[in-house]
Amino acid sequence: MRSVLKLDRGPGWFILEVVYLIQKILVSDQTPVSLNWISHSFESRRVLSEFSFSFGGDKVIAILGKSGSGKSTLLQIVNGMIKPDQGEVLLFGEPINYSHVRALRLQMGYVVQQVGLFPHMDVESNICLLGRITNRPKEFIRKRLFQLLDTVQLPRTWLKKYPHELSGGEQQRVGLCRAMFLDPPILLMDEPFASLDYETKHSIYKHIVAMQHTQPRTIILVTHDWEEAVTLADQFIWLEEAKIKESGDHHHLKELKTQLFSKL
Ligand code: ADP
Ligand code: MG
Repeated sequence: MRSVLKLDRGPGWFILEVVYLIQKILVSDQTPVSLNWISHSFESRRVLSEFSFSFGGDKVIAILGKSGSGKSTLLQIVNGMIKPDQGEVLLFGEPINYSHVRALRLQMGYVVQQVGLFPHMDVESNICLLGRITNRPKEFIRKRLFQLLDTVQLPRTWLKKYPHELSGGEQQRVGLCRAMFLDPPILLMDEPFASLDYETKHSIYKHIVAMQHTQPRTIILVTHDWEEAVTLADQFIWLEEAKIKESGDHHHLKELKTQLFSKL
């Protein structure tokens, strides 16, 4: 939520949003995210090497790989938090303008493992944060809030609860609502379910599948969990040693998982 906290609240935001909306409509036939020949190193260690891929088609694309294989770095490159050493990131056909990344992040929801709910805010305030920051009308905020609560089946009686009164899975559902508040065309998820138990994870998967059915969008899901990828993803990329080791569709992913794990 670092980026969100830094957002300006002035009326300029309304104009910016209108510009972005118009841009979204005009370029809606463009691929949401294209990464072209991205290379990036931390100190002397190359984390990504000549990485190219297009993410789009309202699909869920899983990024798989061992810990340290560059998955989170890739996601941060997509949302402009990291500017790669080389290569180009196109969002709806436009190169990222690194001096206006806060505005572009309104087009992206970002869900992380640590959830990052604000402990001093109740559930309602956490979910509606982006609506308030961008000065949405009260009726819009109310309507969107209830729509999202229904999508992830959070009871309305929870709105006044604080994050510490919720379980990890419940907090993650609130985090998902918050990320989805402005209906971003792109949703980035960085191992959001890694710390949840099997049952809770599977119940959230159902909500995500339902959400993709009713409000489809491009979701980039970073995970090291092959079962999670098979459950949710339409496509996958497997990262190893800074490069794509393998990529493909859901069918290919299932086959690969069977091959890899039957040897164990
Ligand atoms: P993953 O998400 O696949 O576990 P990361 O993208 O977080 O991997 O990290 C890839 C590699 O880059 C790791 O070796 C990590 O230690 C290193 N790294 C990530 N962020 C930084 C940073 N800000 N400074 C230095 N090294 C980093
Ligand atoms: Mg990571």
